[in-house]
Amino acid sequence: MTVGGGRWRLPLISGTALLAVYLLGAWAVWFTPPSGSVAFWWPAAGVSVTILAFAPRSWWPVLVGGIVTASFAANLTGGRSVEVAAAFSVANAAEAMVAGYLLKRPDGRLIELEQLRDFGRLVGAAAAGALVIALLGGAVVALNDMGPYWATARNLFTSHASAVLVIVPVAMTWRLRAGIAERWEYGVQIAALLAVTLAIFVPQHHLPVAAAGLPLLVWAALRLDPRTVALEILGSAVIAVLLTAAGRGPYGELGQDEATVQLSATLVLGYILTSALIALPLTLAITQRVRDLDVLSESEALFRRNFTESLTGMLLLSRRGNRLEVVDANETAHALLDHGDRSVVGRYLDRVLTQPTAVRGVTQTMLRGNLDGWRGQLGIIHRPESQVEVAISQLTAGDDEAVFAAQLLDVTPLHQSLARTQAAEQLTNALLDTARCVMIMTDMAGTVVRVNQATSVLTGYPEDELLGQPLWARIIPVSLVEETREMFAAPDGKELPGSRESDLRTASGDPLRVLWNTDLVRDENGSPQYAVMTGVDVTAERAGAGLMANLFQAGISTAILGIDAQGQIRILNSGAESLLGCTSEELHGRQFVDVLDPEELRERTDESAGSGWGALASTLDGGNESVVRDWTWRTVQGRLRTVEMTICGGGSQFGPLAGFLVVGRDVTEQRQGQLMLMAALEKERLAADRLRQLDAAKNEFVSTVSHELRTPVTSIVGYTEMLADGSLVPADPQQLPLLETIARNGARLISLCNDLLALAGIDNGGTVWDRSVVDLRELAHQTEESLRPMIRNRDLKVAFELPDEPIPVLGDAVQLERVMLNLLSNAVKFTPDSGHVSTRLWEADGEAWLTVADSGIGIPQEEQDELFQKFFRSSTAQAMAIQGTGLGLSIVAGIVAAHGGWIGVDSTLGEGSTFSVRLPLHVA
Ligand code: ADP
Repeated sequence: MTVGGGRWRLPLISGTALLAVYLLGAWAVWFTPPSGSVAFWWPAAGVSVTILAFAPRSWWPVLVGGIVTASFAANLTGGRSVEVAAAFSVANAAEAMVAGYLLKRPDGRLIELEQLRDFGRLVGAAAAGALVIALLGGAVVALNDMGPYWATARNLFTSHASAVLVIVPVAMTWRLRAGIAERWEYGVQIAALLAVTLAIFVPQHHLPVAAAGLPLLVWAALRLDPRTVALEILGSAVIAVLLTAAGRGPYGELGQDEATVQLSATLVLGYILTSALIALPLTLAITQRVRDLDVLSESEALFRRNFTESLTGMLLLSRRGNRLEVVDANETAHALLDHGDRSVVGRYLDRVLTQPTAVRGVTQTMLRGNLDGWRGQLGIIHRPESQVEVAISQLTAGDDEAVFAAQLLDVTPLHQSLARTQAAEQLTNALLDTARCVMIMTDMAGTVVRVNQATSVLTGYPEDELLGQPLWARIIPVSLVEETREMFAAPDGKELPGSRESDLRTASGDPLRVLWNTDLVRDENGSPQYAVMTGVDVTAERAGAGLMANLFQAGISTAILGIDAQGQIRILNSGAESLLGCTSEELHGRQFVDVLDPEELRERTDESAGSGWGALASTLDGGNESVVRDWTWRTVQGRLRTVEMTICGGGSQFGPLAGFLVVGRDVTEQRQGQLMLMAALEKERLAADRLRQLDAAKNEFVSTVSHELRTPVTSIVGYTEMLADGSLVPADPQQLPLLETIARNGARLISLCNDLLALAGIDNGGTVWDRSVVDLRELAHQTEESLRPMIRNRDLKVAFELPDEPIPVLGDAVQLERVMLNLLSNAVKFTPDSGHVSTRLWEADGEAWLTVADSGIGIPQEEQDELFQKFFRSSTAQAMAIQGTGLGLSIVAGIVAAHGGWIGVDSTLGEGSTFSVRLPLHVA
């Protein structure tokens, strides 16, 4: 509770109240009927309960002490013994604590009598408190032999309960002062009540008119405020008790014996209780009702204000058959739906809004009870561009009186702005897609979120291959991927360059040169959300720029001179300056022909054309352009330069010949280089010729010698064999070895001669080749036969793997057998004992294949290229002193080549060699 009014207010009230407890208690004990054991009314109880219910709980110890003391003192003053007084005072305090406790709200403050519920609480608290004093007080009286227990308890109960019920309400209604009545009515009512009460209780009589005051209290309850009612009940109770105690009124003269005293007390208390129990709840019910009505009318006013003033259009709709009719509309709805002077009220809803069938359908579904409410967007019939958001809901049910409400929100502006936004977006899209430059939008992680059409066209990647991918997944060249990724990795897009030129990778792999411009799209907080990159294809410009640079450079080595119609130099470029070794000022105005060698000019021009510029201009083809030709120019320093020069006439369709343009390129070094090159080539050609001649002479010589040598050696060998076999004379056994040596060496000489002659024949085309169908399988059989004597005394495995079918080729059987025999004899010769030699012949892909493989000494890798040259012998063969001339393989290669075939070798030193020959098959 608040201690409003200062620190002294509560102590003051409490002190006064405790004093009242003492005085009222003393008075009550004093007035206790001589025959009775307890007072017949105990108003001090009402005051004690009020004190404890009203004061904060922290005050209770002090106040309870005060109540005990005041009651004790009152009982003593009233003439009771100390023990009885003490016992009663404790019982009084206990009663006050129980009732006081029950009358407190949870926050410790006294309950106010606002509702009937609170009255119930009051009655409960009064009864509980009275019960406590009845039980304790009864015991005190009984124990002290002052009277019977139950009768005392009953008397205590009524006297205390009635006191609490009329005194505490005054405190509980202290702030409830709102009555309906005017001031004068207060006056009249109070005066009437006072008059009637006094009229009942002042005279001594036995008329049963005590209840006559009740209608007046009911009047108060109906019209006056609760506090006045509570005060009136208290006042009339006090008057009744005092006058009855003084032996007046209807109950005062009942008698002095105990029974009649008790009866008159009971009757007075009954009167008091009746007044309290009738008037208090009545006034509370009335007050509550008045308050509820106020709230109701307030909320109705609020609703009405809401309805009329709402910015949302509101309609009240009533059912008419299966349709809804507008019965009320607020201002917004009128503004929205009235058509000219015609109000919306009284019209069917489906006649006001578009899509009438939908509206009717919804109405019927709602009327059937299948739908509580409906929302949708509709138009207004008389305003074609309008759009309203409509919500219809049922307010009250009932078949015929069903009432509905419709809320309408004008969303036309929203709708229009949406349409405008969409149109703008379409325009933007169209702009983006028709733009001729690459436009890419990425999020801040570099993921592509939007590309325009031109991006796909220029890069060759369809849109869906780019969207959702990191920027560097496709179009960034591999070398720039890392750099690009880092740019996006930096916070807030700080590293993204505003503009930059770089390459772009297209789907076809061709690079594009693109000038990028990057902007960041930021949110309202300024943090970047997207990066928008536009790229212009500058490939052609850059290529063009390169060309221009070349052109300028060319300007340095190419001399360009503008000559006027008189042959004077008027303008020249830096190329001309450097070629002629002087500045343009020095040359300006000089005759161009002075630059040329006069002798050469004379030689090349017609005499009839005269001399000087005129002669030169006459060489122009059709007067406009000369042929490109080398001229000798003389520099200012007197040096002669060879210049590839052309002259063209510079006129236009609008005027005569205005001048000439001479374009010259210094080709002195180039021409000198060309001359030197030609001389060198000529020298080389002469040397080659000489070599060829020498080679031919050598071949001639070798053939002649071989030829001349073969005949005498053949006869030497022949005669030696005759001497050895004893066909002429018996051979001396001692001479036999010598004869065999002569014959063997002679045979080697013949073989050498044959080889040399064969080679010479192949080289100079002197060999006459036979061209017949030769079966290589047959040849291989023959070769195998010829080989046999060679391997007779050798420990070699010689294998022939030949096909079942013949292998026909077109050629010279003798020469081809030579090839096989040569390869086989080499294999046998270069394979040490316990090795093997295998020959394979087969046909594949239209060719005959022959391989001769051995497990012999092999040929060093670096020497294999020279293998088929004349007189070549491998270093290993020489080191091992294996005899040979080095002619066999070159003859073999010559024969194979003449047959349109191919020969090759695969050899590993120390492991063996495989010679392979391929010859075209003969197809019959
Ligand atoms: P020649 O056998 O008379 O020396 P060739 O022209 O037939 O002459 O052979 C040239 C050289 O090639 C031989 O001296 C030898 O060094 C090497 N050569 C040829 N065939 C073989 C082979 N099967 N194994 C090892 N070396 C070989």
